[in-house]
Amino acid sequence: MNDHRSLGRELGIFDTDPLIGSGLPYWLPAGAAVRKAVEDYVHELERRNGYQHVNSPVLGKRELYERSGHWAHYAEDMFPPMSVGGEEFVLRPSLCPHHAIVYRSRQRSHRDLPLRLAELGGMYRSEQSGVLGGLSRVRAIQLNDGHVFCPPERAAAEVSAALDLIGQAHARLGVGAVRHRLSLRGEGGKYVDDPAMWARSESVLREALDERGQDYDEEPGEGAFYGPKIDIQITDPAGRESTLSTVQVDFYQPARFDLTYVSPEGPRRPVMVHRSVVGGLERLVAHLIEVHAGAFPAWLAPVQAVVLPLSDAELPAAARVLSRCLAAGLRAELAPADRSSLGARIRAHRLVPYQLVVGPREAASGGAAVRLRDGGQAGDVPVERLAAEARPFP
Ligand SMILES: [Zn+2]
Repeated sequence: MNDHRSLGRELGIFDTDPLIGSGLPYWLPAGAAVRKAVEDYVHELERRNGYQHVNSPVLGKRELYERSGHWAHYAEDMFPPMSVGGEEFVLRPSLCPHHAIVYRSRQRSHRDLPLRLAELGGMYRSEQSGVLGGLSRVRAIQLNDGHVFCPPERAAAEVSAALDLIGQAHARLGVGAVRHRLSLRGEGGKYVDDPAMWARSESVLREALDERGQDYDEEPGEGAFYGPKIDIQITDPAGRESTLSTVQVDFYQPARFDLTYVSPEGPRRPVMVHRSVVGGLERLVAHLIEVHAGAFPAWLAPVQAVVLPLSDAELPAAARVLSRCLAAGLRAELAPADRSSLGARIRAHRLVPYQLVVGPREAASGGAAVRLRDGGQAGDVPVERLAAEARPFP
């Protein structure tokens, strides 16, 4: 069983320290490399799909979250406020209010819509320490978030477009989603009390799901406090389910922040489609460690190429191959002979997609014999071609 907690530590992806605190893992070089590859990929995927990226602070005044409704409906999951200079600040429990403010910062016209804003940003959740573990349940989350502001009649199409984007990303990453869940409001004061608004946003999500012929299960009590959502579920090796990607339709926050746009019929209120293509990077990478058992696809691998001189005599030629790999954009390293056999070094680097062996013949020609992770031989392939193969967008 590939539990990401043991495998992640063994692969040098992440670790934790009681002095930093539970639920606050840190990323080691291999993990930081995987994470950066995911970040770059998602950023580019969003750019190609009409998103503009923004950056906003990881905290804000208490009033911001009172306005957004988090304070009334979500306070138990938030860190308590910090007092500075007579004002109270809160580590943000979500990026949504900041993006509503970004929307509001300029006058918007119907011609500007849909406005698609995305950000990879920090958010915080005051989880109890008993439930924390590894990367899958943490207190500090780097969230791939985005909000589409559009006219209400366009919301179902934007939900569908977000589901397309999620499907594309899952296929590229090798994410194994188990089911779609339509998460609805439950009982009690956790949810905004406006039945007509809930019925309206629910019908938008159902319309998008039905139009796509997408199967889904309904689950009351799993919605966001401001609206229903489509959750795309994954499981860990123990069969525990969690949400990775999500799409939500929200009529609540646009009203709370008094968002408008100018249209030929006068001012109108946009709807906010919240979506996360790959969720929090912590949970995503935990899942990727488990599904790939550490053998990440070449574009995601922490080390994509290892250069293996047959003996010390080929070390200078191997160093030149390494430089070419690095210049071509590959994450590469050199494993010198150091009295260990080629076989032993190949075993030590068995998860590296490209193993570049430099013997006397390759040293003379300036090339390398490329061995693949599965044992296949690719021959003397130029490193530039390997680098092109190892890009997320071929
Ligand atoms: Zn949001």
